[in-house]
Amino acid sequence: MSRRRQIYEGKAKILYEGPEPGTIIQYFKDDATAFNAEKKGTINGKGVINNRISEHVFSRLSHIGIPTHFIRRLNMREQLVRQVEIIPIEVIVRNVAAGSICKRLGLEEGEPLPHTLIEYCYKDDALGDPLVAEEHIACFQWASNEEMHDISSMAIRVNDFMSGMFAAIDIRLVDFKLEFGRLYDGDFSRVILADEISPDGCRLWDMKSGEKLDKDRFRRDLGGEEEAYREVARRLGLLHDEDSNPGEVLDLSSHRTRLRGTPAPTPKK
Ligand code: C5P
Repeated sequence: MSRRRQIYEGKAKILYEGPEPGTIIQYFKDDATAFNAEKKGTINGKGVINNRISEHVFSRLSHIGIPTHFIRRLNMREQLVRQVEIIPIEVIVRNVAAGSICKRLGLEEGEPLPHTLIEYCYKDDALGDPLVAEEHIACFQWASNEEMHDISSMAIRVNDFMSGMFAAIDIRLVDFKLEFGRLYDGDFSRVILADEISPDGCRLWDMKSGEKLDKDRFRRDLGGEEEAYREVARRLGLLHDEDSNPGEVLDLSSHRTRLRGTPAPTPKK
């Protein structure tokens, strides 16, 4: 049997040539990196959870008419996607101040933003993915004005949908990153949503306790990252009963599960 061809290895995923032309297999790793790969580690089972969460979110987005690269999940760690030409822009959508915007603008983490903010970063590891203006994107022709129009309107629709989806399971969608790609049809191309949507690229806070249920647990050495990722999957209804113990709820303040009925610690103000 011939080995399939590896196309690219990223920080959290490996891409292999797919079974049909124009398809790719995304393999989700357990590797985690932060601060432009200065910090490296693994989160046990992350690849399996992110594969499931991303499948779920992309499927639901396609039901509301967002075009995406997702075709189907193949197994625990792999999904089949359409091959696209990735637009070299990270699209960051923010609802609440957290992370780099706090440092940059002196905002306090947790401050709701006056309205949803979209930021763009140029995808370049060597440069540390710098923040860029739409003028840079047009000037260097990373994307056309028409593509940027489609990207920003899709980003807003994704945010509206995901904010509701997470609010329904008591999770606040603080911010997230999207990537888009061009799908060619002869001389024409259209922009579709690509990459993944998972706790690796979103900030997700428990609405009641404020606990972080995303990669900030790894970035900030908070511990409990495996439990946090599993908790997101569990609340989305993606873990089978044998994978999650229905008699337990998560207590990330001690990084262990706490039995239902025992008093919860007072959330930090
Ligand atoms: O670090 P920063 O605050 O700019 O991140 C904003 C959001 O985008 C976070 O949810 C983070 O996880 C995500 N992000 C990402 N990949 C990057 C940069 C940011 O997934 N390279």
